[in-house]
Amino acid sequence: MAAQDDAPFLRIEGVSKSFGTFEAVKNVSLTVGKGEIFSLLGGSGCGKTTLLRMLAGFETPTKGRIFLDGHDMAAVPPWERPVHMMFQSYAIFPHMTVEANVGYGLKHEVGLSKADRAARVAAMLDLVQLSPFAKRKPHQISGGQRQRVALARALARQPKLLLLDEPLAALDKKLREHTQFELMSIQERTGVTFIVVTHDQEEAMTLSDRIAVMDKGEVRQVGTPTEVYESPSSRFVAGFIGSVNSFEATVVGREASHLRLDVPALGGEVLTRDMPGLVAGQNVSLAVRPEKLRITKDRPEGPNCLAGHVKDLAYFGKDSLYRIALPGALVQAHAVNARRGDEGARIADWDDAVWVSFDPSSAIVLVD
Ligand code: ATP
Repeated sequence: MAAQDDAPFLRIEGVSKSFGTFEAVKNVSLTVGKGEIFSLLGGSGCGKTTLLRMLAGFETPTKGRIFLDGHDMAAVPPWERPVHMMFQSYAIFPHMTVEANVGYGLKHEVGLSKADRAARVAAMLDLVQLSPFAKRKPHQISGGQRQRVALARALARQPKLLLLDEPLAALDKKLREHTQFELMSIQERTGVTFIVVTHDQEEAMTLSDRIAVMDKGEVRQVGTPTEVYESPSSRFVAGFIGSVNSFEATVVGREASHLRLDVPALGGEVLTRDMPGLVAGQNVSLAVRPEKLRITKDRPEGPNCLAGHVKDLAYFGKDSLYRIALPGALVQAHAVNARRGDEGARIADWDDAVWVSFDPSSAIVLVD
């Protein structure tokens, strides 16, 4: 986990970018600490790559300023920025060996002797565990190894900031999961600040110290993976990160440290975590994650108990995903299977009558 200095390493201040009349990035302000893995997460066309390209200097902001290590980047051309961008396609040269690819960007580095260059390449190959493949050509190594060649080449330049545009998109799902951890370990060993563009929320959650969730050119929320998952600030973020059951609701009032909501789809009132500033009569949304819904055969003690039956289920071994029909809603619940010997046993089966309940502290109230 990255340490945050007092002065942020990267400061983006009110940055916008228009292409003609279309505003692709709208008034984005962000700070990133030295050594952080920070992700820009959002759907296609939300402005992630445009923001990344402005950091690299390939695009000029229409408005706003970018400071890197205390320096205003406005007048600094891409090649003079301590920034390197790793493209989705990796752009490694097919006719060059792995080591020649890694050393390519160092050819013109002033003051670097041939021996220093060879030593730097060797160190980078060691870092990404490709030393035994140094003499191979890109077509003689796997997709995951090619990704590491691109990473080694980018890091060989010793950038202060590495920008990675969908770094794992070219890999299949299994390799992607494995490579995520490698990427994190390499980042940790080098201490270089990484900004990763991705549309894959699981990837962002796994890789990042913090995430900026973007939508239509705007940053909707910035936080740690836990913060954006457990305390989304809007319906958009709640729905974008993970699955969620959400319902229209009206605030009834406060009770001890909880909020009482009327939720017609759930057939009455429920208790939720409190949220300051809400008043009786206000329309809000109630959001509950599938894994926060408990399923039991017997009615549990406590508030927020709803009677329903199992409409559908998918068994995944250690857990199961249920669709439970309540009188006014169909909800998704994700439950760990009970252990019976070495076999995972389902809590309930198709058509079983069940109770669905949730803790007030796990129920999220959203206004936006
Ligand atoms: P994706 O995940 O699909 O790559 P993205 O979030 O990276 O999407 P951007 O590439 O930043 O999105 O594009 C944001 C918006 O700006 C899109 O609607 C895109 O069509 C538009 N855009 C990007 N570059 C230009 C350009 N040079 N001229 C005109 N419009 C552009």
